[in-house]
Amino acid sequence: MRRSDREVVGLTNILSILDKCDIMRLGLSADNKPYIVPMNFAYEVIGEKVYIYFHCASKGRKMEMIAQSNTVCFEADCSYKTLKSDIACDWSAEFESVIGEGTVTVLTDETQKINALNIFMKRYAFEGKPHYNPHELSVVTILQVSVTTITGKRKIKKPANVASMILDGKSLAKEIEANLYDRAKTIIAKTGVTPVLATILVGNNPSSVTYVKMKGNACRRIGIEPLKIEMPENSSTDEITNQIRELNKDESVFGILLQHPVPRHIDEQKCFNAIDIAKDTDGVNTNSFGAMAMQLDAFKSATPLAIMSIIEHYKIDVAGKNAVVIGRSPILGKPIAMLLLNADATVTICHSKTQNLPEIVRRADIVVAAVGKARFVKSDWIKEGAVLIDAGYNEGNVGDIDLENALQKSSAYTPVPGGVGPVTISKLIEQTIEAAEKKFHL
Ligand code: NAP
Repeated sequence: MRRSDREVVGLTNILSILDKCDIMRLGLSADNKPYIVPMNFAYEVIGEKVYIYFHCASKGRKMEMIAQSNTVCFEADCSYKTLKSDIACDWSAEFESVIGEGTVTVLTDETQKINALNIFMKRYAFEGKPHYNPHELSVVTILQVSVTTITGKRKIKKPANVASMILDGKSLAKEIEANLYDRAKTIIAKTGVTPVLATILVGNNPSSVTYVKMKGNACRRIGIEPLKIEMPENSSTDEITNQIRELNKDESVFGILLQHPVPRHIDEQKCFNAIDIAKDTDGVNTNSFGAMAMQLDAFKSATPLAIMSIIEHYKIDVAGKNAVVIGRSPILGKPIAMLLLNADATVTICHSKTQNLPEIVRRADIVVAAVGKARFVKSDWIKEGAVLIDAGYNEGNVGDIDLENALQKSSAYTPVPGGVGPVTISKLIEQTIEAAEKKFHL
């Protein structure tokens, strides 16, 4: 960077920016594709220097910190030698705004490392969280960026081969869970009640069995109680609605989830509608849908809510954008279309009778795929710079978008797995905790 491009700003400025920003990391995936991910970080000020700490899970990989809008970048004289770079990454950084430069070093001194971890964990309130134990964190590399010069703005053109941003649902889910853990603890401390999330599984569809298990595990991680009710494949609609009514009456149950899809002979919506709206934390009841669409207070369908939370977290612009939703199911396609509409997007909903689907998708700034068909959305349907939200999950761990080819054209995308799925589970539990907080007026 040329000195003349710099505009020195003060320490107070950098701190106020740090409070609002994300640090993004550019790296290379195992198959040599560049990726960009946001990173959790913490900072402390010692004298006139700002020290920023973050952990580098991809130990041994060369990396850069890059800037996007509202993102901070530390143009660092990176001591990559110390990282024993195993993959060469000759991407030259392109920053919208560069606010600091300094040196990146790996913390090796134990005291320094512990100090950095403590600051890091305090910022994210990780202390005591089962999935963020200090031991686990201490085995990853802790990098310290010492910012020596605070600089202003510069603009350089974006290289053509930069991959789009990964909308990392896994790390977002961890952040949400860390917060839920505290909320669950508060409910238990103040009321002596451990909220229960009841899940009803009808039959033994292997994917559904796995989903119910994952939801149960998430409840335990967060500190609420899962209650699994298994019903035989040949259960009738009446038997299921009766079971739901029992759970409606059960004072210890705060959330009820009927695992979708149920066997074909069952009237699924009738079962959904039997769920007490106050316990409908998966947001599937017709009344919940109506209230959500009218922007009234109601639990929202968990997957669409997860998608909106990813969009908000990664600051994706929705207002005025063309959003194309492929799929119109009551639990996914229709509600996400409503939520996007309520966020001021111009929404088109497509389905199996839609004509000229590729043409419609080509106009989309945001594509939401909720079809249930592996790699259904092709890369030549994607407009350059579109945001890809892949809600699909199909055999072979693949989504509904041919992501492998399409992501090069996108500006951001949710990976499969690790995108919408993990956030869906945390949103389901968040709404269950909300149900308990509402009931106890907390
Ligand atoms: P669904 O009930 O089977 O609905 C699929 C939708 O796709 C229907 O509206 C259907 O249209 C439409 N469709 C089918 N073929 C099409 C085609 N050729 N062209 C355009 N549209 C077509 O599925 P769902 O429950 O919404 O789930 C969709 C996907 O999301 C699945 O992969 C599922 O596993 C995944 N999912 C993920 C989560 C999560 O937490 N990540 C949660 C729920 C679902 P019609 O209405 O005309 O039949």
